[in-house]
Amino acid sequence: MTPLGEARAFVLGACTPLAPRRLPLAEALGCVAVEPLVAEELIPPFANTAVDGFAVRAADTAGATPTTPVRFSVIGTIAAGMAPTLEPGPGEAVRIMTGAPVPATADAVVMVEDSRPVAGSGDEIDLLAEVPAGRHVRPAGDDLRPGDAVFPAGDVLSAGHLGVLATLGRADVVVVPPVRVGVLSTGDELVDAGVDLQPGQIRDSNRRTLLALVTQAGAEAVDLGRIPDDEAAITAAIERGATECDALVTSGGVSMGDFDFVKVVLDRLGDMRWMQVAIKPAKPLAFGTVPGPDGRRVPVFGLPGNPVSSVVSFELFARPGLRRMMGHGDGALDRSRVQAVADDGLPRHPDGKTHFARVVCHYGDDRRFHVRSAGGQGSHHVSALVGANALAELPDGPGVEPGGLVDVLLTE
Ligand code: AMP
Ligand code: MG
Repeated sequence: MTPLGEARAFVLGACTPLAPRRLPLAEALGCVAVEPLVAEELIPPFANTAVDGFAVRAADTAGATPTTPVRFSVIGTIAAGMAPTLEPGPGEAVRIMTGAPVPATADAVVMVEDSRPVAGSGDEIDLLAEVPAGRHVRPAGDDLRPGDAVFPAGDVLSAGHLGVLATLGRADVVVVPPVRVGVLSTGDELVDAGVDLQPGQIRDSNRRTLLALVTQAGAEAVDLGRIPDDEAAITAAIERGATECDALVTSGGVSMGDFDFVKVVLDRLGDMRWMQVAIKPAKPLAFGTVPGPDGRRVPVFGLPGNPVSSVVSFELFARPGLRRMMGHGDGALDRSRVQAVADDGLPRHPDGKTHFARVVCHYGDDRRFHVRSAGGQGSHHVSALVGANALAELPDGPGVEPGGLVDVLLTE
C-alpha cells in the first residue's frame, strides 16, 4: 500500500498552476492574484463627511452646548455626488450629507443630532456642540495613497479584495483562472433519474456529487456524462475531455474487476500510476496525465466508484490537486483542520490504514469542537454524506475512546 502522504505528494507534483489570465472582477472571486495591487489614486479621492450634518469652520462652534447653542446661517446643501461649490464664511454652515465633499473653507462637520432648527427660520440652524477641526471629516487619501501596497501577489481574492479593486477603478484583474474540470462516471449499471430501475441497475450519484465538489473547490465543472463500461466509449470520452478541459475526474472502473475499462484506457492513453493508498474508504486511486492540446498534460483523477470513496478520494487528492492548479499555496489546498472531542468515541480496527469517518461537527458551548458519527460508515452509505460536515481522521489503531480527541477536516 502507498502511504497517504506519498500518494498526495505524487498527485501535487503533477499539478502545476495554469497560465495567468485577465478576468473581469465578476469572475475573479476565490482566484489567486498573480500581480500585487498598488494604489494609483487617493482613496477617498476628496475630503468628505462621515455623517449627515453641517459643515462649518470649527472655530465658530466654540462654546456651543445644548443650553448655549451657536446660531449659523445655512447657505445651501451639498449632497453626495455634488461638487463642493459652496464656501461657508464665518458664522455660516452648509447642510451636508454623508459622503458629500466638504467645502474648502470648512474644516469640521456637526452632526444633525447636535443641531436644532430655528423656529420660523428657513435658513438658520442652532448648533449644540463644539467640534474640533477635522471632526467627522474623512481627508483625501485617508485610506490609500498612490504607491501604497494594497495586497501582494498570491492573495486569494475575497469579497473584500474585489471591493478594493473596484474602489481603485479596476474592471479586471490578472489571476490564475479556474480549472475546467471534466467529470465523467462509468458503469453499465448506472442510469439517470426519470427512468425505472431495471434489475441490476442503480442511479448515477457520483457525477452529481463530484460536479458539485468541483464547483465548491472554486473550479469550473464540465459534465462529460455517464459512460458505459465500453472501451471505445471511455476512450472517446477521455479524449474529448482532454481536449476541452484542464483536468479530468472519473469515477468507477479503477478496481480489479473484469469490466474496469477506465484502467485499460488510461493505461493506453496516459502516463498513469495505480495506487492502493493506505486509507479507508477510497483505497484504489489512479492518477496521472493524458496528453492534451499544445503538448499540455492533463491531470486525471481516477476515483473509485463507491459513492463515499469517490467523495473521500476527491477531498484528499483531487481538491488539493485542482487548487494547486489554480495557484493556491500549501496552506490553502486542503479543508480547514481542527481538533474535536469525539463525544461517543469513534472506534475502528487496526488494519494498517488511516480511516476517514463521516462525522457531524459542531462548536459547543464549552468552546470546543465536538463530533459524532454521521451514520453508516460503509463506502456505499450515501445517507451519511447528507448529515456529515466533516471527515474525522482516525490513525491506524483502535480508534478514539468516548471523550477522546480526533483531527477533523471541515468539509462544509
Ligand atoms: P467500480 O469502482 O466501478 O468497481 O464501482 C464500485 C461500486 O460503486 C459499485 O457498487 C458501483 O455500482 C458503484 N458505483 C460506481 N459508479 C457509481 C456512480 N457513478 N454512482 C453510484 N454508484 C456508483
Ligand atoms: Mg464499475
